This record gives sequence, C-alpha cells and structure tokens, in this order.
Amino acid sequence: MEKVLPESVQTLHLSGPLSLHEWQQLFELAPFGIGVFDRDFRCRGVNGIFTELSGLAQGDHLGKTLFDITPAQAPMLLPRLKQLLHGVPRAELDLGCIHVSRPGGPRRWQMSCSPLVDAAGIFNGIFLIARDLTQDPRAYLGVTRFTGEIQEASSQHAQRLYQAEARLHHLSYHDPLTDLGNRNLLQERLELEIETARLNKQALALLFIDLDGFKLINDNLGHSAGDLLLKLLAQRIRHSLRPGDLATRLGADEFLVLLPDIRQPQDLVALIERLQHRLHDPADIGQERVRLSASIGVALYPEHGLTPDSLISAADNAMHEAKRRGRNGYLFYSPDMMTQMRERMALEQGLIKAMEQQQFRLLYQPMTDLANDSLSGLEALVRWQHPSEGMISPARFIPVAEECGLIEQLGEWVMRTACQQGQRWLAEGFAVPRLSVNVSVREMRSPDYVDRVTAILAQTGFPAERLEIEVTESIIQSVDQSLSLFTRLKALGVQIAIDDFGTGFSSLSLLKSLPIDRIKIDRAFVQALPDDKHSRELCRTIVSLADSLGMAVTAEGIETQPQRQFLQSLRCEEGQGYLFSHPLSEPHMTSMLAPQR
Ligand code: C2E
Ligand code: MG
Ligand code: MG
Repeated sequence: MEKVLPESVQTLHLSGPLSLHEWQQLFELAPFGIGVFDRDFRCRGVNGIFTELSGLAQGDHLGKTLFDITPAQAPMLLPRLKQLLHGVPRAELDLGCIHVSRPGGPRRWQMSCSPLVDAAGIFNGIFLIARDLTQDPRAYLGVTRFTGEIQEASSQHAQRLYQAEARLHHLSYHDPLTDLGNRNLLQERLELEIETARLNKQALALLFIDLDGFKLINDNLGHSAGDLLLKLLAQRIRHSLRPGDLATRLGADEFLVLLPDIRQPQDLVALIERLQHRLHDPADIGQERVRLSASIGVALYPEHGLTPDSLISAADNAMHEAKRRGRNGYLFYSPDMMTQMRERMALEQGLIKAMEQQQFRLLYQPMTDLANDSLSGLEALVRWQHPSEGMISPARFIPVAEECGLIEQLGEWVMRTACQQGQRWLAEGFAVPRLSVNVSVREMRSPDYVDRVTAILAQTGFPAERLEIEVTESIIQSVDQSLSLFTRLKALGVQIAIDDFGTGFSSLSLLKSLPIDRIKIDRAFVQALPDDKHSRELCRTIVSLADSLGMAVTAEGIETQPQRQFLQSLRCEEGQGYLFSHPLSEPHMTSMLAPQR
C-alpha cells in the first residue's frame, strides 16, 4: 500500500515535542468533535464534543466500531472509507452534513475524516472530525436557495427539509419493515470489509439465513402476522450479533449477516448456533404461538470467494443445500455443492415430466395386529418409476417436490389413486380395514387441503372412516391452527396419525389437546430394540402415554422377532416392517387381502 502523510502533519511546526498531557488537553479542548478509530474502524478514543454527537455515554465508545457508533451515517461513510483504505486521500475528506436529534432540537453536524498514519507513514486508522453547524447560518445556505433569506431558513421549515433529507438517506440503505440494512448497505459494507480483511489478513463470514416454512405462516395467519414475525426475528438476529456485525434483509424471509473479523472458527460456530437457537424459540404473534426454524448457509472470505458477489452466491448455495438436507441446519459452502445443485435442478425438471407422463406408482405395505398377526391396515407409499434410472425412492424426490411446489399435485394424485384402489378392493369383496396415506406438511397446510380431500372421497366413494392421514409432528407449529385443521378433517370421518414420532420436537403432552387417533413410533427407535436402553424406555413411555390419551400405537420398521416380542410385551397393538412384509405392488397386495366378512 502507498505511504500517505496528511498535509496537515507535514506543515506542523513545533519548537519541541508536546508532552502526552499537552496533547490530551489539545484533544479535549478542540472546538470540534474528534473520534480516533483503528484500521478495523474500532474506536480508540473520542473527545467530549464527539461524545455529545454520538449520544452515547462517556466511555461507551471504546472498542465499538464506527458503524455501531453512527449507524445512521454508516452508509454515507462507506464509499469514503473505501477510498481511505485504497490510500487515495492525503488530507481531510469531506463527509457532508448529518442531522442528529437531541433533546434541545435537531442538530446539524458537518463531518470529515482524515487518515491516521503511523511514524512510517502507513495507514493505521482514521480521525473523524465533527463540527456543530446548527448555529452557523452558512449551514443553511442550501435552504436559502429555496427561501432567499438566511434568517427565514433557520426556522422549522429548514429543519423539516433536513429531516426529509436524512429520512431519504436512511430509506435508501434500510429495509422499511425491519429497519435492518438492505442490499445497498450490504454491498457497500461487504466491499469495505473485504478490503479491510485483505489488508489485515483476516477472515470474514457471510451468513445467508432463510426461514423454514415461513410461507405457510403467511398463507395461514395472514401477511400482517407474517410481517410481525419478520420484525421479531429481525430483532432476534440483531441481538445475537457482536458489535460491528451487520444484519440485512434482502426481501421475503431472507436475511444476510456479515461477520467481519473472524479469528477463531469455534467462535463463528458458537455464534451461528446461538443465532439458530434464538430463531427457533417460540414466538407469540397475536393469539398464536409459532415456532420457526432457519436454514443457514455460510461462506468465508477468502476461502469461498474474494468478491461480494461470489461470497453472496456461495452463502446462498450453502443455504439451499442446508435446507435440502433437512431444516434447522447450517452448512459451510463447499465447491461440490454446485454439482449437487445442478443434480437437484435436473431432478426438479424430471419431476415435472414424471407428473405429465404418469411415471409415479403406489406400493402398499401391510400393517399387522401384533396380538393375532392379522392384517390391520395398509399404507400407500409412492415410487417414481424413472425410465432410465429405475425406481426412485420418495426420500429422494419428496423433498424436491416440496421445495418446487409440485407436492400438492403429487399428493393429490397419491390420495386419489389410493382411494380409487381402496374402493376397487372393497367392490371386489376384499377387506380393507384401514388405508393410510402420507401427506406432506407443506401440502396439508395449503388453504384448500380439506376441500381437496372432501372432493376425492366424494369422487371415489371410498369410506372416510377407513382413510387415515399420516403426517409428521412438524405440522404442529401452532396448536390452535392444527386444532382447527384436524377438527375439519375429523368432521369428514378421516383418522389422523402422527408419523415418525419421536424425531421431531413435539411432546406427547402437546398432542393431547389435538384429535389424533394414532402415533407411529419412528423406525430409528424400533431398530435399536431390544438392546438399547434408551430406545426401550422411549417405546415404553410412548405406548403407555398414548394408551392413557386414548391413541393407538404402531411401531414402524420391525425387522426381527426380538423387536416384535419386545413391542408385544409393551402391549403395542400394531406393527409394520419387513418382518411382516415389504411394500407390495397392487397385484401382490391383492393376493394378501382377506375376503370381507
Ligand atoms: P414413512 O411414511 O415412515 O414410511 C415408512 C418407510 O419405511 C417406507 O419407506 C417403508 O418402505 C420403510 N420401511 C417399512 N418397513 C421397514 C423396515 O422394516 N425396515 C426398513 N429399513 N424400512 C422399512 P419409503 O417407501 O421409502 O418411504 C419413505 C418416506 O417417504 C415415508 O416414510 C414417507 O414419509 C415418505 N412418503 C412415502 N410415500 C409418500 C407419499 O405418497 N406422500 C408423501 N408426502 N410422503 C411419502
Ligand atoms: Mg408413513
Ligand atoms: Mg414413518
């Protein structure tokens, strides 16, 4: 970097060096505000007038960054500070005027800054100089152009003009809903921080935060509830950060957080985890208590990108990948994510085609009464019969269908096909004690979901009492909302089962206020039976609590006799798994069905 020496220093003439005490007096007695900042723009000291300008208490400045001390002015300072870092200015840089509101009325300050250089002439930070022009008629010259009179201009009219100007400036750098920074501010701060990090050989991190399932909140609770939630979460983000970090909102439910000066990877991880916890805490919106989670993508300078655009795009990719792997997670960017993204996009295109060309199939897996081994129900499980790749598992394509919005169409096809088949079996004289259909949370939360089920039942003639809807516990974000949805489904006569129970965060006591007919214990717990003590306890508790709440229990994924025997000993009434049968195609399933009595 080029050595700079401000002209003012070059022209300083002293007969002998001043003592530290004398310099201190000069600093304190200067008729204008002085702030001294290091090359990371952290405050090293301010004089009394500067303290008044900032509105902070004496001593509260030290260690804070310039952006914390004058957040409203930060955007205006950014391009100038960038020039300083590039070693452009040799002398004072005019930063223009700012307006601050103080108890005695608004004040107008003129700001300038100068580079601070060390003895070797190397850039080492900045001086910020602030002059109070509130009483100075020259400060109103801009206004005299409108009024023609200086006295006239220093009236309320002028102040209103200043306020409008300041407001306009603020708006162009902030998100009006949450008052976090906007894309402009992010872009400028990021450029500056990258430059600072480059000079200081430091790392910085950029977090791309996307809320999981926010659209559902908007759809179900309305946009004003959605806005309230965004404001609340924006506050939580802001409060989880360190001084000098920057939180911005890019739109919808997407937030970008800039974390300059990352020294220890473990500090970064701790910060991300703290942020994630805070976002996951329950939030009260009017009468409703909701619980959201967030997926976070992390990109690091210089590892993952050297420019603002490349860092934003890396963090964005990492966020999408985090979302794809399940929600409420965070992920650091890695180059092979690009390949995965491309694969995912291909899958998405393939799914659209599959829908048109009817490449989906249903298999049926029996459920068994553990007391007498009779068939007690069937679960419909979807497959994608891909023309070149063969059978694709729903675990691979359901999440993609959910993300690209195809799930509603696919879910409707599954429900209709299962009910048609169920009705055909009944018409042919077979017993179909219960037919279970999996429904994605996303699909179930769509506003016309109950209407669609009603229509399918009417069109196919399948008896509603024999239909069971399986949904995972993450449907229960808000008890009130789930209660109204479940009540409407129950009114049709349909039964409701909570699938994969134990993997989410809800508790049985939360479920007790909802009209739920069945709990399906997740395979993960059954798999570890009977040896694993924790799984044994968990299964025992679920069975006994469900029993006391009047809910039936099905154990999923039973593969061995000891597993079955242990569950029988708990009086778990139903089992499902390879021990009894794999999922079967329709003809194979037909051959297992008993005639109706
Ligand atoms: P799920 O609803 O919990 O279904 C049980 C899954 O466990 C099925 O996998 C089944 O084949 C498998 N399984 C059953 N018994 C055993 C066993 O003993 N051992 C092992 N290792 N696995 C067993 P599948 O068919 O691959 O489905 C995976 C998940 O995809 C389902 O889990 C369900 O959440 C989802 N899914 C399947 N069909 C649909 C659908 O039509 N709509 C929606 N939204 N999701 C579906
Ligand atoms: Mg299921
Ligand atoms: Mg399951």
